Amino acid sequence: MTVRLKIGIPRALFSYLYFPFWYTFFSELGLEVIVSSSTSKQSLDFGVKETVNDACLPIKLYHGHVAELKDKADVLFLPRLVNVRGFGKETFCPKFLGLPDMIRNSITGLPEIIDNNIELVHDIFPLDKACHKIARRLGKSGLVVWRAINSGKKSQQVFMKYLAQGILADRVIDIMIEGKTLQLLEEKPPSADISLAVLGYPYLVYDSFINADLFARMQEMGVGLQTVEMVPPQCLKKQGEHMQKNLFWHFSNRTVRATLYYLKEHKIDGIVHVTAFGCGPDAMVNKLMELEAKDFGRTPFMTLSLDEHTGEAGVATRVEAFVDMLRLRKNRGHGDVLPPPEEVGHLGTYQLTSV
Ligand code: SF4
Repeated sequence: MTVRLKIGIPRALFSYLYFPFWYTFFSELGLEVIVSSSTSKQSLDFGVKETVNDACLPIKLYHGHVAELKDKADVLFLPRLVNVRGFGKETFCPKFLGLPDMIRNSITGLPEIIDNNIELVHDIFPLDKACHKIARRLGKSGLVVWRAINSGKKSQQVFMKYLAQGILADRVIDIMIEGKTLQLLEEKPPSADISLAVLGYPYLVYDSFINADLFARMQEMGVGLQTVEMVPPQCLKKQGEHMQKNLFWHFSNRTVRATLYYLKEHKIDGIVHVTAFGCGPDAMVNKLMELEAKDFGRTPFMTLSLDEHTGEAGVATRVEAFVDMLRLRKNRGHGDVLPPPEEVGHLGTYQLTSV
């Protein structure tokens, strides 16, 4: 019996958006893909202990997920994500660029790391070329690599359709790991009287441990949810034409563009920006979103800032207060005009953070 090489992929950061491609790619190359479990207290505790203090929560969690895999896998896939074909000359946040080095410096006893640069802007067929380089490091070449790339792209397309239906990334990742076929589900969204755009980076929005099960919580409250990934890609792109200037960072641009889309083109009752405490890019993104929400009919806006101390009770209280305020506003027929602050008590500024 041939022993398959085990490759570890952390269920963190970009995995929440690109996991299906890489999972399928490596599986088709004949590798056994080991994925870390959903975020838990253990991954959080390890990340907090081993990562430099000023790192943001998602980077700390990434360390926790790598720690879980280091003794289970023969190689780890920790690419240096520089840019993807997106909106112009944008890159990933600088912390993404230094990730493999941070991991090497923080965690001991690591197996070999596949840390190739993923730069998909200045080249012809850049993804294919990057994949061939990675495959060569794993001793694979030729037709099998082409097939693996094509299968990966197909999985990724189906995955994006799931996310567009509002199905959470973590759930789809589990479906793939269990070996079930990815097929589109015909799920009816629960009935809702309030519609909220919950926007932010995928590794915060879709990690239900760290956001204290935000989606389930809101759905129980009868809230309909919209995400960045539910905006059709061409509409996301179009919103960029209305921005005076693109931001430097890929996920930031997606978040701001989705904000503009929901404000202009969709009837939403409010926006929740899910962010990480201490996130550099979000210092700007959050302000931009807040100002746009104010300009477009003074749409209620809430910032939910997460860090390692965020607890369920804190998130629940803030979310419930925000939703109550939205219902009050709607039931009183205020339409696009906010009720005076005295009617909503301590929510007068419509700005809440969890820390
Ligand atoms: S964009 Fe913000 S949250 Fe994401 S890795 Fe960079 S600093 Fe952390």
